[in-house]
Amino acid sequence: MEGLILKSTGSWYTVKSDNDSIYNCKIKGKLRTFDIKSTNPVAVGDRVEFDVQQADTGVITDILERKNYIIRKASNLSKQSHIIAANIDEAFLLVTLAFPETSLEFIDRFLAAAEAYRVPVTILINKIDLYKDTLRDLIKEMHAIYEPIGYPVLEISVLEGTNMEMLRAKFQGKVNLLSGNSGVGKSSLINYLYPQLQLRTNDISNYHFKGKHTTTFAEMVELPEGGYIIDTPGIKGFGMVYMEKNEIYHFFPEIFKYATNCQYNNCLHLDEPKCAVKEAVKNNQISESRYISYTHIMSDDNEKYR
Ligand code: GDP
Ligand code: ZN
Repeated sequence: MEGLILKSTGSWYTVKSDNDSIYNCKIKGKLRTFDIKSTNPVAVGDRVEFDVQQADTGVITDILERKNYIIRKASNLSKQSHIIAANIDEAFLLVTLAFPETSLEFIDRFLAAAEAYRVPVTILINKIDLYKDTLRDLIKEMHAIYEPIGYPVLEISVLEGTNMEMLRAKFQGKVNLLSGNSGVGKSSLINYLYPQLQLRTNDISNYHFKGKHTTTFAEMVELPEGGYIIDTPGIKGFGMVYMEKNEIYHFFPEIFKYATNCQYNNCLHLDEPKCAVKEAVKNNQISESRYISYTHIMSDDNEKYR
């Protein structure tokens, strides 16, 4: 039978079959790994083949190819990775322009990681009930920076219910990931749209304070209208993705586009002469804040994340 992994505890997996039955499954000895060195062979969101053994238990025999997946290092010292979730249809990055302020660089780092993972992103600006004057201008600027390069920006207020039904419709029928710094309103948003669901979006702070290093597994929470929210305690971004210096600009779609016109085909768009990217920044064809984020990511010590 074919099914979807909703939850894992490490050795047992909750699998939903295509006719909506739930099975507790173990894994058959060895599964294909698609060459990923991970501590968990199967993650939430994976589609699997399984054999039913008894009424509600089974054995997973194969994983179907993933359209995308997000990983993090299993621990600081480990070379192994932990696959957090697979087959994500869309990531929603919840940000606030104040109370607290989400920096544009945080947004750009998130977007670059999402590009590396091939996960589409919609940016949600929350708490618009609070923004006056210059913050209203900043909202306009956010639309101007992000929409032309492929990231829809939606203004919402969970407090006042602004655009919340539009958001509900966007979540419907898809596998969604909701991310954002703490305090931006993730739990409030989920409680507003789905008061009956119990998500763990808040657990991260408790989890940190206990200083535990146990692996927390993500879980797919089914939405009343169909579709899922991936519940991942502790994921505010995607974590750090290892990227080669000469491929980082591939994850900034607009920089990638202009880079084809650079004089040198190994141009990193920093100090090289006749760089079409820097020219485009000068001409306001590439937003300056995006370019600055790019140069900051370029000066990171990438080896840390490998
Ligand atoms: P989380 O850490 O991302 O889960 O954020 P919370 O959902 O805990 O929200 C943090 C704070 O922001 C809470 O005090 C919420 O009441 C508040 N908040 C959430 N959404 C809004 C909003 O749209 N407008 C305003 N003014 N406050 C909000
Ligand atoms: Zn260049």
